[in-house]
Amino acid sequence: MLQRLLRNFRCNLAVDLGTANTLVGIPGQGLVLDEPSVVAIDQSSGKILSDGAAVGHMARQMQGRTPQRIAVVRPLAGGVVTDFVLCEAMLRYFLRKAQPPGWRLKPEVLVGAPGSATPVEKRALFNSVQRAGARRVWIMPEAKAAAIGAGLPIAEPVASMICDIGGGTTEAAVMSLGDTVAAASVRTGGDRMDRAIVDYLRRRYSLRVGVHAAERLRIDIGSAFPLAEELVAEISGADAVSGLPRQATITSEEVRHALEDPLDEIVEALRSVLDQCSPDLAADLTRQGMVLCGGGGLLRNLDRFLAERTGVPVRLDSQPLATVARGLLICLEHRQQWQTALEASDEEV
Ligand code: ADP
Ligand code: MG
Repeated sequence: MLQRLLRNFRCNLAVDLGTANTLVGIPGQGLVLDEPSVVAIDQSSGKILSDGAAVGHMARQMQGRTPQRIAVVRPLAGGVVTDFVLCEAMLRYFLRKAQPPGWRLKPEVLVGAPGSATPVEKRALFNSVQRAGARRVWIMPEAKAAAIGAGLPIAEPVASMICDIGGGTTEAAVMSLGDTVAAASVRTGGDRMDRAIVDYLRRRYSLRVGVHAAERLRIDIGSAFPLAEELVAEISGADAVSGLPRQATITSEEVRHALEDPLDEIVEALRSVLDQCSPDLAADLTRQGMVLCGGGGLLRNLDRFLAERTGVPVRLDSQPLATVARGLLICLEHRQQWQTALEASDEEV
């Protein structure tokens, strides 16, 4: 009785802890937080600036413009926790910010993990979330959450395919009857694309630019497939020889050329997933198509490019940056139905 009463008053949270962005949702309220997964630290002490508040948007604003003593860092890479202390501090800040004022009870948290995460990496995720203030932690594979968020009928005896291109990784999976039947994960995402652009500009123009300028260029004029009207943009950097500031005018064709290798790696991952499918599942997919999500999926004409290279129709989710978070939230809101899909941490605190 008391248990049930408590459950009704407890604030549960869905957390999409991404390499690039963290989103938090509350059942009945929707998504309540969406911030970059970064913190600003003082390098001499290792402590987060502004008394632990230089997290998310606030830290992002400092990025690339900090004095040497200060660094803006990501506690995750390739979808898994790489800096436990900072990850815990970042999450604690996000969880506190997301919860309505007045909530005293620790929340139960449902968090997504890459399908490729090892047991050790999942344990690290459990621990980080729990130490950040969760009473209990549940983990769900991100691809499954994305499929649910995209409204795919994953519980039915028909193949559903998802391709989630995030900052650090691309996760592709085919699901049927509630289970994953084929999956692949590559450490190619937005970050890898940005590094490819940085390399291209250095080779072709002897221009050194930061990854954030490269990301801006990719978002502004990047594409995977020829555009009806090709675009141009100015980019500022430093001359690789003299070190002096210099600008260059770059076309969308050039950016597309720079992105060839990372895009090939994504195509390879999708092909390997399709290779693992039985002929019946493959036949389903040529009819049903796959859903593309994750911020990396927003690259212009990426849906057409992937469809052409894999033979499977591709639909970009309506809000690709929030697909996983929406799926996690749906699971929390319909807990009975999805309970078996979750992995629980063994202890409550
Ligand atoms: P993660 O799940 O790893 O946190 P996200 O799904 O949040 O990743 O996606 C982050 C990636 O999406 C970044 O690499 C970012 O550059 C990219 N991105 C965000 N908006 C756009 C856009 N409009 N066009 C292209 N890429 C975008
Ligand atoms: Mg993600």
